[in-house]
Amino acid sequence: MRNSVYMEELDSFTYREKISDGKAAVLVPVGSIEQHGPHMPLNVDVLLSRAMAGSVAEAVGGLVAAPITYGYKSQQRSGGGNHIPGTTSLDASTVISIARTLTLEFARHGVRKIAFINGHFENYQFLYEGVDLAVTELQRAGINDVKVMLLSYWDFVDEATIAELYPDGFTGWDLEHGGVLETSLMLHLYPEKVEMDKVEDLPPAVLPNYDVLPVRPELTPASGCLSSAAQATATKGEILLKRASVAMSAALDAEFQDVIDNDVEQK
Ligand SMILES: [Zn+2]
Repeated sequence: MRNSVYMEELDSFTYREKISDGKAAVLVPVGSIEQHGPHMPLNVDVLLSRAMAGSVAEAVGGLVAAPITYGYKSQQRSGGGNHIPGTTSLDASTVISIARTLTLEFARHGVRKIAFINGHFENYQFLYEGVDLAVTELQRAGINDVKVMLLSYWDFVDEATIAELYPDGFTGWDLEHGGVLETSLMLHLYPEKVEMDKVEDLPPAVLPNYDVLPVRPELTPASGCLSSAAQATATKGEILLKRASVAMSAALDAEFQDVIDNDVEQK
């Protein structure tokens, strides 16, 4: 299989050819197994980070690594909480270790441009730590030309798009869990996996500006969603995918340009 952007669908020889000279970027989708309300499956963050990465990889001539399926613990103020059945999470040290190991693995293959495409709010700082440890380790070994980017795809939805898609006001990305963003993207990409008749059209969750452990389950709305998905549409999902992936591709092209230049200069 030669013509896929998904690394695990390639044979080893094609993979080697595509990453030879450190040219192709490898994008690692990072998801979670987390409840997303009564209307969507547990693997929404895996599906969406992988689809986003696929769209970016096509634009930048990169490859998408097999996704990191599990994520860091869901929190009440951004994902409903880790106490909800079905939500299955990793400890921080495990997330850090996976990010560190995968960075070192791709570097060992000869990849010089790596990007973690995050689809689960709570993962971010632990991915950062793992990447930082790996880059430090590589530098100590004299390998200084590996560049790693980390991003969460919703950070690439600009203000104009937010105003266009949320005419009644925007509650913030933390409360978008199981809301319009994720549901619209799922309706566009995987409509057969969404049951809109099960959406509970409730006002946005009202949560305290602190965390408390053990969690008080009653703080999370019974639906598990932190805002309503009632206004989600496939058209909004198409716009979100397109705008976010175009902006992410531009960021990757800009950051990885010097990696390509270095490579050319060495020849
Ligand atoms: Zn999610």
